[in-house]
Amino acid sequence: MKSRKREIVAYFRELDRRFFMDSHKELAGLDEALPIGFDQTISQPSLVLEMTLALDLQPDSKVLEIGTGSGFQTALLAEFSKEVYTVERIKELHDRAKERLGEAGFRNIRFQLDDGSMGWQEFAPYDRIMVTAAASTVPAELLYQLNVNGKLLIPVGTPAMQELTLLEKDVNGKVTSTVLNYVRFVPLKGKYE
Ligand code: SAM
Repeated sequence: MKSRKREIVAYFRELDRRFFMDSHKELAGLDEALPIGFDQTISQPSLVLEMTLALDLQPDSKVLEIGTGSGFQTALLAEFSKEVYTVERIKELHDRAKERLGEAGFRNIRFQLDDGSMGWQEFAPYDRIMVTAAASTVPAELLYQLNVNGKLLIPVGTPAMQELTLLEKDVNGKVTSTVLNYVRFVPLKGKYE
């Protein structure tokens, strides 16, 4: 295993999922998505790790995350990149994640309370983009906000099942798409629901 991958796996194993949960803490050790209120979930741990590794984060990566949720995935992104821009549409989740990640000592995360289905144009382009909610199709705005040599990871499909899709933009702006897995996420609200 390459050393960066090893570092990410080691950090992930030490990350206490209970810290990101206000209820159901006794279930935190299960490899399952769990409720965090407002009909939303903290993602399945093995999927969080798989998605983090698939994004191929670099120490100088500027990352956009859509769907902050509990902040569990955000912590991994922030630990292994330069800066993270994360957007959440539910105020209570946004507030709690911001509080938690501040308490955990992260200083490289910028939080936005908004509909992130069309990205966060103000700070584009991003080297990496991760969407943690399911879209019916790949948002054109996110592809536009992706830097050259960038990677965008997003679940695409129906509410019942989605293809976890990795889109890679080459140095000339050409985009290729690969399906990595089949997943089931809560819907990405807004234009691409
Ligand atoms: N990785 C997160 C975690 O482990 O806590 C998963 C969060 S949950 C699966 C998906 C999140 O996306 C929810 O918090 C939901 O409110 C948020 N979401 C859905 N549509 C959104 C949108 N258009 N803009 C911003 N956030 C959105």
